[in-house]
Amino acid sequence: MLLKRGAVLCRGTSPLHSRVRMGEGQTNITATLELLQDLQDLDRSLYQARDEIRRLPAERDKRRGKIDDRLQILKEAGAAIHTIEVQIKEIEDATSSQRQRMRKLEGEATSAKVDTAMLVAYQHEIRSLRKYIGQAESEGLELVEVLEMKTTVRDTLKESVDLEETSFVEYSTNVDAELLIAEEKRGELEQQRTKRIKGRIDLEILREYEKLLEAREGQALAELDRRVCQGCFVTVPQNLYVKLAMARSLVECPSCNRIFFIKKTVEKA
Ligand SMILES: [Zn+2]
Repeated sequence: MLLKRGAVLCRGTSPLHSRVRMGEGQTNITATLELLQDLQDLDRSLYQARDEIRRLPAERDKRRGKIDDRLQILKEAGAAIHTIEVQIKEIEDATSSQRQRMRKLEGEATSAKVDTAMLVAYQHEIRSLRKYIGQAESEGLELVEVLEMKTTVRDTLKESVDLEETSFVEYSTNVDAELLIAEEKRGELEQQRTKRIKGRIDLEILREYEKLLEAREGQALAELDRRVCQGCFVTVPQNLYVKLAMARSLVECPSCNRIFFIKKTVEKA
């Protein structure tokens, strides 16, 4: 076992200036950092897999929602078209019965029994009917034009929604496949992770590291290059570098809270 249990985690009043200190010596800090670095590589992939598992269905829902919105518009367009069709039918029915009435009056007006007063009355009603039919017909024609326009718009929308539906089916199948891969990968990585950390790391340090992992999008560690944090690119006080180099305690970045490590120069075999 590389690390003894019972390491103490000390945090300052501000989390930005916190330090993770261990009661152990240099070897333990070095070993802990090495383990964390090793874990970080695995956790980055794990974070990506988990992120995909969260993100993919959410994206799919969003896309589905957009299609559903358009389907609703399509439904409303259909209802509006139906209303106009009913209006046109009503006008057709009304003008057809007025026309019949007009023909009947025209017939009666030409019969021999009609006197002048009655003829005037017939002619007056016939004129009124003709006027009414004329107005109704022009109203009907306007409605037919509106109907044609609305039908064209509806048909174009329907065509585009149909295409979206077709591509959605394919997209959704791909999402399922990608999710399956991500789930498998997550399972494997989680197993590897459990094996890797078992009994090898102080649990408080692990918790701290995991909290950072979530807060910092899967990247809990940052290289300290001279005095610059490679996670947030903030320059830190010289004493932090010294502290880290001496490996007496774990050191966090005062700005992004990531745990610092110093990149080792590769030893030649
Ligand atoms: Zn930083």
